[in-house]
Amino acid sequence: MRLTEQTCPLCGAPGGLSLGLDKRGRPFSRCWGCGTQAFLKTAQAVGGMLLLSETIRDGAGGPLEEWLLKARSRGEEFMRQVTAAAAAAPKRVVEEKEVTR
Ligand SMILES: [Zn+2]
Repeated sequence: MRLTEQTCPLCGAPGGLSLGLDKRGRPFSRCWGCGTQAFLKTAQAVGGMLLLSETIRDGAGGPLEEWLLKARSRGEEFMRQVTAAAAAAPKRVVEEKEVTR
């Protein structure tokens, strides 16, 4: 059950962050913009998520919009670097062990 939509504090997608309850009644957040999902196990966590969301939302349109664009660019560069490092890393060889009984 989706209770509210907020600006995502991670990717800045307006209305991208859904806060709600899962089938078992546990509070969770999910963002359609960046795909982040998290269970928020305490009221403090929900409050923190709302605070971050409102801080990002209220700052959008000013210098924060530029900050978000730079942050996304840095995120893309990070992903390029870790993807290249993973592709260059030697593959682990899994040795088959004989099973003795
Ligand atoms: Zn997001």
